[in-house]
Order: sequence, then structure tokens, then C-alpha cells
Amino acid sequence: MLYISFKQYIQHGGCLHNGKGYDMKNVAIIGSTGSIGTQTLEIARANKDINICALSCGSNIELIEKQAREFKPDIVGVWSREDAGRLKLALADMDITVVWGMDGLIQIAEYKTSDILVTAIVGMIGIRPTIAAIKAGKDIALANKETLVTAGHIIMPLAGECGVSILPVDSEHSAIFQSLQGNKHGDIAKILLTASGGPFRGKDREFLKNVTLSDALKHPNWSMGRKITIDSATMVNKGLEVIEAKWLFHVPPENIQVVVQPQSIIHSMVEYKDGAVIAQLGTPDMKLPIQYALFYPDRRYLAGDRLDFEKLTSIAIEKPDMDTFLGLRFAYEAIEKGGSMPTVLNAANEKAVSLFLSEKIRFLDIYEIIRECMDRHRVIENPDIDSILETEKCVYDYIESRW
Ligand code: NDP
Ligand code: MG
Repeated sequence: MLYISFKQYIQHGGCLHNGKGYDMKNVAIIGSTGSIGTQTLEIARANKDINICALSCGSNIELIEKQAREFKPDIVGVWSREDAGRLKLALADMDITVVWGMDGLIQIAEYKTSDILVTAIVGMIGIRPTIAAIKAGKDIALANKETLVTAGHIIMPLAGECGVSILPVDSEHSAIFQSLQGNKHGDIAKILLTASGGPFRGKDREFLKNVTLSDALKHPNWSMGRKITIDSATMVNKGLEVIEAKWLFHVPPENIQVVVQPQSIIHSMVEYKDGAVIAQLGTPDMKLPIQYALFYPDRRYLAGDRLDFEKLTSIAIEKPDMDTFLGLRFAYEAIEKGGSMPTVLNAANEKAVSLFLSEKIRFLDIYEIIRECMDRHRVIENPDIDSILETEKCVYDYIESRW
């Protein structure tokens, strides 16, 4: 493939053109050192019409330095001032601006030449940068589901007002998005959101009492960041995805049905009013949904395994066990209570998972913590960003005082 260096690009109003008849896509990433971030960069490596203009991470300065040297962005960000100082020194031979903290994240998110922001950061910390990017007119390739779960009522209308697209990266939501192409929204009967069931599928609560962190980190099909891997084991991830689907596709929760598909081959489906079910299938590989979001509506070649229908003897489907894995139940309840309740579910889960990851609580305590936080919360209707973040803080403070 033809390689054209950054310096050779001729800039045309926020979009770089290589002079060979195809437009450059300028991509900014928040969370470039994580699972989604690094896979986004693999796609950039394979598609020379992607220009990475801005990158950010939390504290992995060794990796972001390597990424900066390879992709030569204009600007990179890290969380702490100290790390920013170190990174600045390490990149002193390059013409790259180094920023830090929330202001830095926002600068990355709204970076002047970017066309699209990949939100590959984990947790509610993604809310402010995502909003800043939308206000600056950037399309969003959205992996950071926690942002939509807690602030979907602000983000979706804002994206509409600003004329930007929110393109799903989450594999199920990408599958739904792909299954919606060429159909009318009014013809949707329901969304069938698939779940793998996680590492403890088929187990009971007695079994879950004694599972360890390393058991919970063994996802059967997907290799992902640690937080979402635990969320998959509790099925809180699927709960968050129901809320995410409600916002992305404007479908009421009673028309979103979760089905367990243990092989993670069917990535999700849409049933239409005539009974037709359209699904997207494929091997479990996050690069496909990431690439689809970056190039939508085009499809590009993607290296990797293909489904082999001669070897595939069956595709199993099961009902989710909502009595053992309470994540889904919590999500449907949070949607019903509405307002700030999804924030409480999400914040309690983020904190509980971080305690579990540092082995301070047991697996089932995650459910206990979420239950207690949701029970004691008085719902704030239609919360603005400050109330969402204040609610998050209250939940965090409460959990810190109790566990
Ligand atoms: P990872 O934990 O692998 O990566 C998280 C990224 O966020 C890292 O780059 C990390 O930087 C960065 N980060 C953390 N804190 C900050 C901060 N304060 N400022 C800037 N960057 C920060 O997560 P995943 O890639 O697994 O998940 C990212 C999002 O995508 C989540 O919302 C998840 O639910 C969603 N998602 C992930 C999927 C997957 O396959 N991984 C599938 C579907 C959705 P550092 O490395 O320095 O800590
Ligand atoms: Mg998913």
C-alpha cells in the first residue's frame, strides 16, 4: 500500500487530502494505551489514510511515548502533571505538545484538526471530553459506554443539535447498527442484544461466593480491559449495554431482550415487525466494530479469522440467568427509576469493581454494594452534568466510608 508521510499531506479545512484521490481521516483517541485504544492504532497502522492527530492515556507514559513516536500526533495527554513533565522530556526531540489533567483531555477531545474522537477511556471520566468533542463538531466512535449510561439524555440530543454522529464501537451495538442499515426505525419490533454469559455462565450463587479475581478475569471469548472483563462476569456489562442501546437506538427497554450466545458469534440482532430477524455474525474481534465506526458507511478489508461454516456445527442460544447474575436486573430497574439512578448503578459498579480488582472485596460484594447504593438514592430527575458528577462523588464517598 502507498505510504504518504504526514508532512506530505495538504490540509483542506480540517481534513487532510493525500493528493491521490482519497481523504485522510484525522483521528483523536482518549485511552490510546488500553485494549480499544491499541486496537484502534492497529487499524491506523493498516490504513494509511488514517492520520492520528491526538492521543491520551492515564499514566502509561512508556507506551504513549512509543505510540507518539510511531504515529507522530500533534498533541498527547496524560493524567498527572508529573507524568506530563516526564513525557515532555522523553519527547523533547519531537514537535509534539504535551498536556495533562481534565483540561488536557478536553484539548485532545476537541483538537482542531480531528474529524472523529475514539472514546476508548474507561469510566465516567469520559463524560466531559465527549461533550466537548460533540460541541466542537467531532464525530464520536463511542466505546466508553459509561458516558452514555449516565449522560445519554444530554449526549444524544446534543449530538443531534451539533450534527455529529455517535458511531457505536461496542460489538453488540455495532452489530445492531449494522443490522439496521437499509431499514426504517419505525419497523423495528425489538433488539436482541447478545451476551456470552461470561466465565461463570451456568454457575449458581453458592459457586460465586468463592470465585477469585483471576477466575473472574478469564473471559471465555474476548480479551478486554480489566474493568469490562469483571463487568462481563457480573453481567453488569450487559446491563450497561441495555441502557447504552436504549440511548443509541431510541428503543424502549421492554423492546430490548438479552439472549445468551455463549460462542460470541452472533454479535446482536434486530427483529422487525414482519418477523424478519437480521443479525451480524463474525469471529470475536473488536477491530471489526472499531474499523466500521471509523469508516462508516464503507467497509474495508480487515485481516483476521473468518467464521468457518463447515466447522461450525451449532449456534447455541440460552436465556440469561437474571437471578444469579444481578447486573441485568439492576439495569432494568435503573432505567425504570430513571434520572440519576443509572449514574448510581454505574458509579457504584465502578467503585466496587475497583475494590474487587484490588482484592479488597469478594465477587458477590459487587452486587451488595450496587444494591445498597441504589436503595438509598433519591432520584434526581433529568440531572445535568454537575449533578451527575456530584452523584458519582456521593456514591464514591459512601462506598469508601462503608467498605
Ligand atoms: P482499558 O482499561 O484497557 O483501557 C483504558 C484506557 O483509558 C487506557 O488507555 C488508560 O490509560 C485510559 N485512562 C484511564 N484513566 C485515564 C485518565 N484519567 N485519563 C486519560 N486516560 C485514562 O479499557 P478498555 O479498552 O477495555 O475499555 C475502554 C472502554 O471501552 C470502556 O468503557 C469499556 O466498557 C469499552 N469497551 C471495551 C471493549 C473491549 O473489548 N476492551 C469492548 C466494548 C466496550 P492507562 O493505560 O495509562 O491507564
Ligand atoms: Mg459489548
